[in-house]
Amino acid sequence: MEYDVKYYQQVAEELRATGAIEGLWLKALTVANADKEKAKALYVKWRLEQIVAAELQESKHKASYTIACPKCHATETILSAHVKNPSAYTTFNISYNSFLGRIKFSCNHCGKVFKRDTQLLE
Ligand SMILES: [Zn+2]
Repeated sequence: MEYDVKYYQQVAEELRATGAIEGLWLKALTVANADKEKAKALYVKWRLEQIVAAELQESKHKASYTIACPKCHATETILSAHVKNPSAYTTFNISYNSFLGRIKFSCNHCGKVFKRDTQLLE
């Protein structure tokens, strides 16, 4: 996997400012059989993966979805991070079923009840 230089820069700045994350560094040293040069390369590789994964998670979190009532077409746009939070909605009442992974929407305008898979909203 090849990463953008900006991520390497971020790791370099982090190492300069706060040093290595101890647990990750120990893991790298262990996997590299105490070979410090190999461990450094592993550390940077893993830290890059963590940073890129965290950024992806964050951008997913910032994504928003527009829910539309199938009957009266009332809409509400909601951040994906708040999709399961009933108090984040004004146009719909929701109940979240964690077992089925579904949200049941009830429209405050026309009373229409409909369901959505949370996988499609996250
Ligand atoms: Zn409606």
